[in-house]
Order: sequence, then structure tokens, then C-alpha cells
Amino acid sequence: MPQSVLIIGAGIIGASLAFHLARAGAKVTVLESASPASAASGRSFGWINASFYASPAHHHLRVAAMSAHHRLAAVLSDHAPNWQGTLWFEHEGQGFDQKAEELAALGYPATPVTRAEIAKLEPHLANPPAQALHIAIEGAVDPVALTRALLAASGAKILSGIAAKSLIENGGQIKGVRTAIGPFSADHTVLAAGIATPALLAPIGLDLPMLARPGIMVYSKPVGWRVNHILVTPDQEIRQDPSGALLAPGVANHQADASESIAVPSAMAEATIHRLRARFNAPDLTLDRFALGYRPVPADGLPLIGTVQPGLSLAVMHSGITLSALAGEALAAEIMGQGEHPLLADFRPGRLLKSL
Ligand SMILES: Cc1cc2nc3c(=O)[nH]c(=O)nc-3n(C[C@H](O)[C@H](O)[C@H](O)COP(=O)(O)OP(=O)(O)OC[C@H]3O[C@@H](n4cnc5c(N)ncnc54)[C@H](O)[C@@H]3O)c2cc1C
Repeated sequence: MPQSVLIIGAGIIGASLAFHLARAGAKVTVLESASPASAASGRSFGWINASFYASPAHHHLRVAAMSAHHRLAAVLSDHAPNWQGTLWFEHEGQGFDQKAEELAALGYPATPVTRAEIAKLEPHLANPPAQALHIAIEGAVDPVALTRALLAASGAKILSGIAAKSLIENGGQIKGVRTAIGPFSADHTVLAAGIATPALLAPIGLDLPMLARPGIMVYSKPVGWRVNHILVTPDQEIRQDPSGALLAPGVANHQADASESIAVPSAMAEATIHRLRARFNAPDLTLDRFALGYRPVPADGLPLIGTVQPGLSLAVMHSGITLSALAGEALAAEIMGQGEHPLLADFRPGRLLKSL
């Protein structure tokens, strides 16, 4: 069992790992090349859900991740997610029926609601759709606040502005990393560096293929009316934060922004605000800011979590806000010698990692 663990990256995944490893008794150091939650975790929509998924195993992982968020919230109660529920109406007709049938077959609680019911649930929608799925168990969290809270609660040594340059390998065992200010040694190293993870693996002869998935997050100025749920519309997801601001990715389907769609991010942000004005009949709605982010998406779209070789693990994934509580909890337990987590079986790094 490792005494000391070095985590590369202080996004929500590195933060969750730091929290769970420290609770399990490890001496944890986190190296962050910029500042905590400055990459994907700081540009995220923050939706915690299992209604988006790529396979039944992926869905079950996400359901378990929602339970892990409840366990985490029992400890970090000031940063508990808001379990406000989702209203899903991304597709109509056949697409709607298919989604409803799939979720029912998975045993996921998604209740069809009518236009009149939607109007009561969301009085400010300009044109409520004919039907939606009401998924009461889903929620959202402020990813930046949760990342910072996890790091603070971990008691780990957090070193911002220090980039890991390369892994130190000795006889097949990873012993730490090199940095501009010298080496950092540890019994175990975890790469939670998001899109930068492949660049750290290449020098030890490992290729990790990733997809390029840029996206923008648009924030409006606060409004005086409420959006009660996370809305999954044909245009994009929408939610409201406690300040009253609306948050919305630039396009629908949170894993799918095409590169060309962010060629002029400011135009995309304005177009998003324009759609939101129509969605809520709110001509005064104005853009506050937008942020461009890069989702860490392994080549087949699914998470990669687990040990790669002696002394080295990695955790790279999209939907990292949803998965963070479970990924940190499960990988920390594995690193600390508590056996393999059954739900991670389909998401091991060996699925995609190849020798160069
Ligand atoms: C627009 C957008 C919307 C999203 N919406 C959702 C959503 O609604 N729900 C959801 O679950 N997920 C969502 N995601 C995905 C989610 O944000 C990510 O999966 C998650 O933030 C990944 O966290 P991470 O800690 O792995 O990576 P990151 O947050 O990218 O953190 C990696 C960290 O590693 C640091 N780093 C990199 N290289 C080095 C190095 N060499 N040395 C030291 N540090 C290094 C970086 O500076 C960074 O801080 C969204 C993402 C985007 C961009």
C-alpha cells in the first residue's frame, strides 16, 4: 500500500482523488500547472446525470456516481449539489419515445409530463414542449467551488503553477515526476491532467488517443425570475445558478460541439443568448461572459480509470463532474489496496492505451 501519492492536475478529478486518498491515510501532494479548476472543470455546465450515456455499463456507472455525490455531500454539506431535477425534451416524436423506453428499460426514474404540467414546473418557458421527461433525481453543482472544497478538505499539499514535465521511471516502476524546480518522488503517481494526459504518457512509450472536443459555456447576467430545473432542450442544456444567471453550453448534446462551431466563440455566445431570449420570452436577457473549454474525452467517448503500471494510475474522462465523486472514491480505494471496483471493469486504461 503506498504511503505517498502524487496527483498531477487539480481539476475536479484530481481534487476528488486527493480528498479520498487523504481520508484513506495517504500523504498526498497535488501538482497543478496553472491553478485549481482552471481547465475543463472551470468551464463546465455542472450537470450530474445518468440520462446521458453511451452504454448500459456507462449508465450504471453514472447512477453509482450520483450516489457517490450524495455520500460526498454528507461530508461537504456546504457544497452539496442542488438536486433540482431535469426536464428533458431534446427530441420529440420517435426520439422522445425511444429515450423514454430506454430509460424505463434501465429502471431509471424518468416520468413523462404533458405541456400543461411542464408549464406549471417551468412557468417562464415561452413555448413549453408537448411533452418532456421529468427526471427528479438529477442535479447540478458548482464545479469550481466543489473542486476547491475537495482540495481544502483533503489537507493535501497543493502546489499551483508547477507543471509535471515527465514521469520518472525506474525498472518499470513509476517513482514520481520531473518539474522545472526539481523531481517530486512518490510511491504512487496519478495522472488527472485532463487533455494534457497523453503528453505525459508518450515519453514512457504509451499512446492515449483522445478526441478534440472544445466547447463554450455561456453565462447570462442574473435575471429576476427562476428556472427551476436543468432543461435539456433541442438547442442546448440550460440551468440557473444561485445568483440568478443562466448557464448554457453553446450547442446541444454536451459531448458534441464541432470544432468549427467554436471558430468565432463570441458569435456563438451571442447566438446562444439570442436563443435563450426566445426560449424564455426575455428580450432583456444579456450576455455576461463566456468561456472556452476543452473536454477530456478518450477516443471512444468513455472514461478511463485505473492503474497503468506499477506506481502509475490515471483518471481521464468526460462527464467528470458527474463521475468525480465515484472516480475519486473508487480509484483511491484501489490504489490503497482495497481491491478492484466492479463498476470500473469496463473503463480500464488498457482498453485504449497502446505501446508507441
Ligand atoms: C463546455 C463544457 C461543459 C461540460 N458540462 C459537463 C456537465 O454538465 N456534466 C459533467 O459531468 N461534465 C461536463 N463537462 C466535462 C467536465 O467538465 C470534465 O469531464 C471534467 O471537468 C474533467 O475534470 P479533470 O479534473 O479530469 O480535468 P481538468 O478540469 O481539465 O483538470 C486537469 C488539470 O490538470 C492540469 N494539468 C495539465 N497538465 C499538467 C501538468 N503537466 N502538470 C500539472 N498539472 C497539469 C490542468 O491545468 C488542469 O487544471 C463539461 C466540459 C465542458 C468543457
